[in-house]
Amino acid sequence: MSRAAHLIETPLAKVRDEIARACAEARRDPAGVTLVAVSKTFGTEAIEPVIAAGQRIFGENRVQEAKTKWPALKQRHGGIELHLVGALQSNKAKEAVALFDAIHSVDRASLAEALAKEIAKQGRAPTLFVEVNTGGEAQKAGVLPEETDAFIAACRERYGLTIAGLMCLPPVDEPPAPHFALTAKIARRNGLSLLSMGMSADFPLAIAFGATHVRVGTAIFGERARPTRQELGHTL
Ligand SMILES: *Cc1c(COP(=O)(O)O)cnc(C)c1O
Repeated sequence: MSRAAHLIETPLAKVRDEIARACAEARRDPAGVTLVAVSKTFGTEAIEPVIAAGQRIFGENRVQEAKTKWPALKQRHGGIELHLVGALQSNKAKEAVALFDAIHSVDRASLAEALAKEIAKQGRAPTLFVEVNTGGEAQKAGVLPEETDAFIAACRERYGLTIAGLMCLPPVDEPPAPHFALTAKIARRNGLSLLSMGMSADFPLAIAFGATHVRVGTAIFGERARPTRQELGHTL
């Protein structure tokens, strides 16, 4: 590639290149890694060019925000797939099931129950990930690692949910590798094939540990103006 071509490469193209490189290094098929472009806090004007560049899978962390942005975007563009990557309150399960194609944050019985009810009612079944709080952080959402097997079993047996995979969000001040490894191990012993792990700072490493879904915001859209509540350490 010429130097000029390299200079005009878009952030999205760069992320895709890095995914391809990480897959090659891990001897994995790039088709097995889904890029979820996390567009939280960004408006339609920032999202449109990314859709125009061919990206169709987007992540949001708040139901309310997604509801204001995506119905119109979905009408204008075909094939959009929307993923909820942030915490979900049980009383928003109805809206979440209606709007999202995947939910990465299933982490408690009341939510599993609410989701099961809405999935049955709406006849829509978003792909579900159980969020694991691999760092055991008190302020963070997610099921503790030692409680995850039982929680998955309850989701399946008590609520009849199909759980497709696990999601993790490692502590910001720790190397992520052990957290990715632990998440992959818990998924394996529960027969789960999907792994949502890796963000802007560490998605190539997550791919080395088997990530099937990388959730990348900043590396595509740039720095967010305000930190989200989640980044401030709140669970909701
Ligand atoms: C914001 C967010 C991301 C994306 O983070 P970046 O560092 O901007 O790539 C991924 N996952 C979750 C759960 C998020 O809230």
